[in-house]
Amino acid sequence: MKHVCLITGASAGIGAACARLAAQRGYDLALTYNSDPKGAEDVARAADEAGAKTHIIQCDVADPAAIEAMFAETDSHFGRLDALINNAGIVDQAARVTQMSHARLARMFDVNVIGAIQVAQGAVSRMETAGKGVIINISSAAARLGSAGQYVDYAASKAAIDTFTKGLSDEVAGKGIRVMGVAPGLIDTDIHAKGGDPDRAARLAHMVPMGRTGSADEVAKAVLWLMSDEASYITGSTLNVTGGR
Ligand code: NDP
Repeated sequence: MKHVCLITGASAGIGAACARLAAQRGYDLALTYNSDPKGAEDVARAADEAGAKTHIIQCDVADPAAIEAMFAETDSHFGRLDALINNAGIVDQAARVTQMSHARLARMFDVNVIGAIQVAQGAVSRMETAGKGVIINISSAAARLGSAGQYVDYAASKAAIDTFTKGLSDEVAGKGIRVMGVAPGLIDTDIHAKGGDPDRAARLAHMVPMGRTGSADEVAKAVLWLMSDEASYITGSTLNVTGGR
């Protein structure tokens, strides 16, 4: 029986790269998107061609009812859940902390923190029943760096994810569930354009010890390694994928 992996935010960037690689590594995939069905369909097609069974689900992770529906759909389609890549996330326009509205802060934490925690809750309840599972929370180097003058709110949301990774992993380690984080650095995806600064990654590449941005595929390789049995004694830690930054 093939293992089933749920990936939130699989329609673009890092989530899409994880989906393509997970398909090559033998997973069947529940792929979620929020606003870009075409992106999700393209990713599902590539995963199908690599031999995966795929199912696409629309889900805004800031909506608890949508999360519940997403798990119900995953259950009825696949009947099992072996792995979660908790990836969906947003940034916002560069701003100073004093300029951030309550609406902006609420959306940032609804999506990046509460959404991620609620998706993990759904996964844990299924994995506890099965007595095994693996969860990868996508954090960010911003959690360490703080992102002053750009998006401290985003950085703080990812720091919350790092603490959540450690705490949840301790809670479920005895139930056969491993929980890890992956903290990417400057990765070449559309997230920078969505934050209003398409050249951000290339412009800041000189600050990376390796002197370049990373690719979504490079992040996906770290994620899939942590999910594999090669990483069977790793839980509770967050791996930097940052070119040394
Ligand atoms: P992209 O913007 O390329 O992709 C983001 C994905 O998240 C899309 O599939 C998008 O879906 C989905 N998404 C956005 N909002 C929601 C929502 N409310 N509910 C559900 N899904 C949503 O970003 P990246 O691939 O770059 O980022 C992926 C993760 O990696 C994020 O958590 C991000 O914070 C993190 N990260 C990225 C870095 C980078 O430099 N790129 C660096 C460090 C961390 P749709 O398009 O369908 O709306």
